[in-house]
Amino acid sequence: MKPYIRILDTTLRDGEQTPGVHLDVEEKIAIAQEIAGLGVDTLEAGFPASSPGDFEAVRRIAGMVRGCEVAALCRCRPQDIAAAAEALAPAERPVIHLVLGISEIHLEKKLGMSRAAAARSIAECTRIARSHAAAVQFSFEDATRADPIFLRQCVDTAIEHGATRVNLADTVGCALPQDFGALVSGIVAFAGPDIIVSAHCHNDMGLATANTIAAIQRGARQVEVTVNGIGERAGNTALEEVAVILHATGMARHGLDLTRIAALSARVAAATGVPVQPNRPVVGRNAFAHSSGIHQDGILKAPEIYEHVRPQWVGVAGHRFILTARSGRHAVAHVARENGFAVAAEELDSVYAGFIAQADATRGEVGVECLRAVVERVRSAPARRVAARGVVREYKFARSAWHLLDY
Ligand SMILES: [Zn+2]
Repeated sequence: MKPYIRILDTTLRDGEQTPGVHLDVEEKIAIAQEIAGLGVDTLEAGFPASSPGDFEAVRRIAGMVRGCEVAALCRCRPQDIAAAAEALAPAERPVIHLVLGISEIHLEKKLGMSRAAAARSIAECTRIARSHAAAVQFSFEDATRADPIFLRQCVDTAIEHGATRVNLADTVGCALPQDFGALVSGIVAFAGPDIIVSAHCHNDMGLATANTIAAIQRGARQVEVTVNGIGERAGNTALEEVAVILHATGMARHGLDLTRIAALSARVAAATGVPVQPNRPVVGRNAFAHSSGIHQDGILKAPEIYEHVRPQWVGVAGHRFILTARSGRHAVAHVARENGFAVAAEELDSVYAGFIAQADATRGEVGVECLRAVVERVRSAPARRVAARGVVREYKFARSAWHLLDY
């Protein structure tokens, strides 16, 4: 049987660290319910020691969300662990998530800590966390820039003192897929079968999803993601991209209901005020839109000609045609029919001429309502059809020349 990959969603913790984003408690609770409904295995609700508001959000989410684990982040400080444990007290299945930077850059320049002190802190804090929760995840921040030997010592220490999961963070998004996969594979073999090895990637070089998939292929049993890929700087691994890859390839089993993705993406974009880039995979407004006449014609013949990822997988009703001067008659007739104002065969020349004139005039997309107005104009002005036909004839020549260029 294929391995099961656990999904930890950190939209409300790492995702909320997106520059300029701050969600209030009620918004966090509403989003948490939707994320849980998607079927994630663990929902990271926040960082309780960071503020009273975050503490409150984690506590209320822990009390409400059922069916998945609820995690809370803490630094390697006893007071952070105490806050996390208290906030998670109402949770059905709490996970205490400890984090410590273990690269030389983090130890020397950020923490002012020796390796020995770091190892002591890992041991002590893991023990304390384990006294509060059965599930303790230790995250090694900046693992991809850490000394690999020291990373193993840290992993060993965390496991010895009770960590049940170890998470390798590519904190600054500097890893390449092959190297990150090799790092994960080495830690999976070292940690043994009882420990869940997790991957947490950032998108600074556009490789977060590729690195996450490499981790899955090399034995990671959990990946950390955010909705729309929101997060610090260039963001985190996008939940929707990983979900679609798992679905399309069947490389691992998972518990996600993909059909909820489009609605969740829109919800998170609205609540955070971070719009989704139009060409973003899976959730961008152009992800299932087809613009050129050649592509629209192909989609009408068989969607698989130009669609590998299907809109229906992620809860989108279907593809969308963008009508521009590059669109052909088939597409115009199709859009009219789909929107309830089908154009008869004998009207199509006139409608198409009117449409092209409109598209040239606006130099962009002709929306459905605009097309409807064109159709109504053609129908209500029979005298102008002669003129319109003239345009068609003229245009046919122009279009055939243009068409050749397009090929
Ligand atoms: Zn992160």
